[in-house]
Amino acid sequence: MSTTPARLSIVVPCYNEEAALPVTVERLTSLLEALIARGIVTGESALYFVDDGSADRTWSLIESCAHRNGRVHGIKLSRNRGHQNALLAGLLNAPGDAVVSIDADLQDDVVAIERMLEAHAQGAQIVLGVRRARVHDTWFKRFSAEQYYRWLQRFGVEVVYNHADYRLMGRRAIEALRGYEEVNLFLRGIVPQLGFRTAIVEYDRAARIAGHTRYPLRRMVSLAWEGVTSFSAVPLRFITGLGVAVSAVSLGFAAWALAAKLFGDQALPGWASTVVPIYFLGGVQLLCLGIIGEYLAKIYAEVKRRPRYVIEAKTAGAQGQPVRESPAG
Ligand code: UDP
Ligand code: MG
Repeated sequence: MSTTPARLSIVVPCYNEEAALPVTVERLTSLLEALIARGIVTGESALYFVDDGSADRTWSLIESCAHRNGRVHGIKLSRNRGHQNALLAGLLNAPGDAVVSIDADLQDDVVAIERMLEAHAQGAQIVLGVRRARVHDTWFKRFSAEQYYRWLQRFGVEVVYNHADYRLMGRRAIEALRGYEEVNLFLRGIVPQLGFRTAIVEYDRAARIAGHTRYPLRRMVSLAWEGVTSFSAVPLRFITGLGVAVSAVSLGFAAWALAAKLFGDQALPGWASTVVPIYFLGGVQLLCLGIIGEYLAKIYAEVKRRPRYVIEAKTAGAQGQPVRESPAG
């Protein structure tokens, strides 16, 4: 149990968030000031907004906030790299003993941060925020999210139900994360792999404060697919199973055709027994090739070792921040 306050960084990925940003900055700043005043976190604690190549005024808003408000720092990515990469850029560049990641739309209750810090002080390196209910999401969003977790778990991916990317990570966990150099990034799957003492904090999820979701169906499906193919070999094993099943069926089919020839007196159904298997096997082979190709594409992306993000600019306060902190916490 540590009694010294932790230096806290809050990382906020932002993509076209000009509508939500002013409220977010204000709410997080007042939360941070309150935590500092109560001696829960140190005076160097700060907010790190990562602009994920926004096309709107997000970066200029961040810059002007950083100018006025000493607690606000900005990191600008050179282009849109997606939520996961933006988050990673923030996590790996923010200093502090504890780093909390939260979305810019404040759908995740900021009050839970204090409980996360408590769990951290009691020795947890990783504290996962878990949504209690999804009352403010649309029916479709709720349904797709539930199916998403269910299927990931079925595919053998270790994910915590209703935990997104609202979490606290201690310095040691972040340094461990630095070693995961994969390009196909799925933080929700990687964090449980890090190990360390993990705690869970429950909270209620609210509606977006402003703007609209950047996760349309296409992105949700792609995130789910990312989760499966980055962490699980089940689809590959499925191919083997399918191959065995199809072979068994065609063997049975051949036996039946032979029996009909030997003991039957009817003409053989030549067209069906020739053409149907050709189409069927052709389809199965294409499907299998497609799945294998999916993994090949991942290997291709991994071996290229391309950088996962490029930082174009930082606000003055975020310049030359020491990345490694004291081993406390
Ligand atoms: N985001 C990002 N890059 C993207 C898409 C989203 O940094 O390409 C950020 C976005 O600004 C927000 C967070 O990721 O802070 C979650 O996005 P959103 O709220 O749209 O997702 P949802 O809550 O609907 O799943
Ligand atoms: Mg959101």
